[in-house]
Amino acid sequence: MSVAHLLLVVHSGGDAVPHIVEADAEHPQLAVMDVAATRGDGIFETLSVVQGHPQALEAHLSRFERSARMLDLPTPDRGLWRDAIVAVAERLADHDEAWVKTVLSRGVEGQPLPTGWVYGTVSPDFRRERTEGLSVVLLDRGYRSDVAQSSPWLLAGAKTLSYAVNRAAVREAQRRGADDVIFVSTDGLLLEGPTSTVLVKRGERLSTPPADFGILPGTTQEDLFHAASEWGLAAVVEPITPEQLRDADAAWLVSSVRHAAPVRSVDGVPKPVDAALSAAMNGFLHARRT
Ligand code: PLP
Repeated sequence: MSVAHLLLVVHSGGDAVPHIVEADAEHPQLAVMDVAATRGDGIFETLSVVQGHPQALEAHLSRFERSARMLDLPTPDRGLWRDAIVAVAERLADHDEAWVKTVLSRGVEGQPLPTGWVYGTVSPDFRRERTEGLSVVLLDRGYRSDVAQSSPWLLAGAKTLSYAVNRAAVREAQRRGADDVIFVSTDGLLLEGPTSTVLVKRGERLSTPPADFGILPGTTQEDLFHAASEWGLAAVVEPITPEQLRDADAAWLVSSVRHAAPVRSVDGVPKPVDAALSAAMNGFLHARRT
């Protein structure tokens, strides 16, 4: 990473107002007993930054608050976190594409205050993924699509720091010769990628699975759905089966930093890439300034 910027959000306790402190991203800042490191007990957001502008900022702040509620963490102070994100993003204004990450952990073991920080750096070049697309495999997530209702303690759909399972799924995809994953529920419905939302185009219909299937409500998907009518598409939230994905005209994995990556094969079976719509989606996503 060539450029990294870090601000710590300091929770001082008592009546003291939480505040922002500048820190050096190249030097250690985290206590070894912080549960972010020892248990993955916390939440995060990753935002894309285009020429210094954080994209979908308010949607990310809302989802950060939602994840905090799901984990019984203190509500993040919206104004403070917004200021920290904007401050880090501004330092990346010389770069066309960058990203900023916010982290809130339950804090140091045995102490009552959460730990928070915001950092950012330059994005990788995703031109190949956005144009040539991704080969994906379908992997069973091992949960039914009603897991969020039946077992809320599993935190399905919260953006927790525990991404070891998501990373393991991508390694399994790579072992199978693929780039990425679409998780499927045990009752046979598409869920999401390990770091992305699934979009499927069938005719004039652009669909995504319901967030109450225990998946993360995507900020990129939400923005694309607002724009769908510009491309003559009806945006629909609905259950999607693997068969419907295989038969679909086109599909994408969409996410904040990589933006829209077309799916070029599913379990080794080629899928057509809609190059024009992929370019339109990525042009729209790149142009966002809020
Ligand atoms: N689903 C999961 C599990 C994710 O980790 C992400 C993003 O990292 C997404 C979906 C896409 O969300 P967004 O578009 O807000 O980046």
